[in-house]
Amino acid sequence: MHCTRLRCLRCDATYPVRFDAYLCPRCGPGDSGSDPGILDVEYDEPAVARAWERRDPALRGRNDVFRYLPLLPLESPEELLPAGGTPLLPAPRLAARLGLGTLYVKDETRNPTRCLKDRATAVAVALAAAAGKSDLYCASPGNAAISLAGFCAHRGLACHVFVPRDASPERLAWLERFGADVKLCEGSYDQAYSEAEQAGRENGWYSRNCAFNPYLVEGKKTAALEIAEQLAGRLPDLVVSPVGDGCTLAALGKGFREAVRIGLADRMPRLLGVQSDAVQPLVKRFAGESPSESGRTRAVSIRVQRPRNAIRLLREIEASRGTMVAVSDEAIEAAREQLSAEAGVVAEFTGAAALAGLAALARREPLAGASAVVVVTGGREEA
Ligand SMILES: *Cc1c(COP(=O)(O)O)cnc(C)c1O
Ligand SMILES: [Zn+2]
Repeated sequence: MHCTRLRCLRCDATYPVRFDAYLCPRCGPGDSGSDPGILDVEYDEPAVARAWERRDPALRGRNDVFRYLPLLPLESPEELLPAGGTPLLPAPRLAARLGLGTLYVKDETRNPTRCLKDRATAVAVALAAAAGKSDLYCASPGNAAISLAGFCAHRGLACHVFVPRDASPERLAWLERFGADVKLCEGSYDQAYSEAEQAGRENGWYSRNCAFNPYLVEGKKTAALEIAEQLAGRLPDLVVSPVGDGCTLAALGKGFREAVRIGLADRMPRLLGVQSDAVQPLVKRFAGESPSESGRTRAVSIRVQRPRNAIRLLREIEASRGTMVAVSDEAIEAAREQLSAEAGVVAEFTGAAALAGLAALARREPLAGASAVVVVTGGREEA
């Protein structure tokens, strides 16, 4: 393993790499007015580059997240549902519609539970299994919970999920199928998150709350490493993803930076983060404005009023000279129809937000001839 230490993104303190590391003890979880002390995993970069070059044929032949073992906080692969290895589809009809040179869809709907979340879950379950933990937990409006429930079902681990009471019947049915212990929480995802954190602490369960568990972003970054390999190192001008807590797009940024360092890619793409215009705290914060009241949106997977990985996300967006946009539910619905009718990809509502965001950017600045990857983060259809 090539992790050297953990660094707090808020106060810059460093800590040793330990399996049970969580938030920065100095900064803690923060409150409504301040960011949590999220830890970032640092690596011995020359050692990672060497290990990548010399990785054994068994790893080279894999196409799940463990392909990137030298860049993960894990000693060895575990037998899990296969997360990652998703296709990067050219979408020429959508490219023409937006006036782009090339457009690809990174189709994360092909993951075992139909969502990019499986990449983080794989790392969480691998760490928990290696440490002999029998119980895992998370808070989620749906996808992270379903992902954890599926991976736990496969391994025979106990899965405790905290979901807002207004989670859709379809999502609850998936949790039931996987045999999860479901706690319905009053109020929003943000409240479910607090309840989950408390129960996890009291019971000694292992956390699959991305952001707070510093190791999970490492799983999500494998999507970027795959894109770099799939494009033979020629990264596009833009990479677009929906943003809730900020972990997913920040992880893509980290993955692209690492891809450049180990020689898998030539340059960083600009990151474009997309939120719903009804719940857009990170769009506002990026623009230096104060957050607005939240409204209603069908983009439930990014309906996060208090994003936990804001510092990480904003740094990655700035480092990439990227930006953030907000889109309406009508625009997301239109993008969802275009994704299926013109690219053959069925996205969940939130998953289509990336395409809607790219269309919004194309109206704001000239993108003629540009290249882009739209990450379709999830594809479980909802009524
Ligand atoms: C979780 C999720 C996101 C956003 O990820 P964050 O890490 O919370 O920013 C986007 N799309 C889908 C489908 C998701 O499930
Ligand atoms: Zn700190």
